[in-house]
Amino acid sequence: MRKYFKDIFQSIWTILIGMKITMGHLFVPAVTIQYPDVKVKLPERARNRLYVNMDDCIGCLQCEMACPVNCIEIETVKSLPTDNLGTTSSGQKKKLWVTKFDIDIAKCCYCGLCVYPCPTECIKMTEVYEFSEFDRNNLIYNFVTMTPGEIEIAKAKAAEYEKEQAAKKAAAAAQAKVASTPVPAVQPSKPADPSVEKPS
Ligand code: SF4
Ligand code: SF4
Repeated sequence: MRKYFKDIFQSIWTILIGMKITMGHLFVPAVTIQYPDVKVKLPERARNRLYVNMDDCIGCLQCEMACPVNCIEIETVKSLPTDNLGTTSSGQKKKLWVTKFDIDIAKCCYCGLCVYPCPTECIKMTEVYEFSEFDRNNLIYNFVTMTPGEIEIAKAKAAEYEKEQAAKKAAAAAQAKVASTPVPAVQPSKPADPSVEKPS
């Protein structure tokens, strides 16, 4: 009988201890958040998804060379002297068509090394950190603003221009060679031998 009441007492006592702990936590401020409904503010220099403002990109390849995992691929084509590519927002004249600018963000390690050397500050980290995809190919970001047709035209014009320049150079070199070739000296004619009779 004594044991029966002891067990009842112990059960009630255990419940009271549990309730005390629970009540104590009811009034402690929460340390977790209801993500994704609630999001924390990111630190000022947080590294997340990259973005490139192509209006300011001059195709200098500094970012591509700085990337330690080769996840940036850029291709450029020389513009013609008659092309007007405009200027960057800082007033720098653009001289190259950027025909490819891909970032494979799946390979990116968010080191930020591509951001610092950019002379026009057009490649930067954004605040976007939610960009998961089902298809890995969707993680290759293409920033080029030219259409495939425009790229073809730019390439064809550049190739034609290169050919013309090469032909002009070759012609100039040939002309220079001709000009520098020494002209053989004219031999003075021998005076006539008076002992030799002229044929009548
Ligand atoms: S953050 Fe680092 S790894 Fe990512 S693209 Fe830039 S240089 Fe490459
Ligand atoms: S460093 Fe900047 S300007 Fe140069 S290619 Fe990269 S993004 Fe463009």
